[in-house]
Amino acid sequence: MKFCFLGTGAADYTADWYTGLENRFDPDIRRASSAILEKNLLLDCGPHVLDCLRIAGYDPAEITDILITHFHSDHFNAANLEKIAADVYARSGRLVRLWIREDAEPDLPEKVEVHRMKLTETYQLPDGTRLTGLLANHQQGVWPQHLLIEKEGKKIFYGMDGGWFLTETYNCLRDQKLDLMILDCTVGDYLGDYRLAVHNSIPMIRLMIPSLRTVGIIDDHTRLWVSHLARTLHVSHQETEKICLKEGIHTAYDGCSLEL
Ligand SMILES: [Zn+2]
Ligand SMILES: [Zn+2]
Repeated sequence: MKFCFLGTGAADYTADWYTGLENRFDPDIRRASSAILEKNLLLDCGPHVLDCLRIAGYDPAEITDILITHFHSDHFNAANLEKIAADVYARSGRLVRLWIREDAEPDLPEKVEVHRMKLTETYQLPDGTRLTGLLANHQQGVWPQHLLIEKEGKKIFYGMDGGWFLTETYNCLRDQKLDLMILDCTVGDYLGDYRLAVHNSIPMIRLMIPSLRTVGIIDDHTRLWVSHLARTLHVSHQETEKICLKEGIHTAYDGCSLEL
């Protein structure tokens, strides 16, 4: 099973940043966060998702399901969703399934089949994949949810965006012994950043890891990755990789894929 990070940046991108990178990825020039599991399950549909799919070699018409973590503009772009949905519909007559938090009220395009997810409740796709939304500690006006995805016996946690964990989410994750845990790492390796209630920093993650082990959310077999790194709050990808590896954490970059 292949999991691919399509974009690993935060919201502090600028359009001119990608000049010369129309057809390739660069670990230091991150596009807005999104990821794809196998060829069909897209996590977030932000402003760069079409470029990322194309560069990484994915066909948007093969997408069956799109999960939305929340509705900040770096994670949700209605025009791109409309393009993917139209592509899917034109090629197969299928409606793409869109998974959003139960209470979300965004403007949505036609040709999508909207599925509203009640937090902590699990939903099953026709291929057996199980999806659970868990409340994220992030701006609540954008209906944030972390995602727990279970497929072929593997458990993946995708925690964009959010700082620390809320009690209900922590209770659901206890003893899950995740196979892959991906954490928000918007802020780099320094103390005193003001974003503590909406995003993680490297020192926050450093503090969390031993406790996550204690309560069985992760164990020795869990692969730990960080994503959603802000351009303006981190050192180079190579340096960040070194810093995080000391804690046993891998640093995602655009186009990076893993086998599960
Ligand atoms: Zn974000
Ligand atoms: Zn956000």
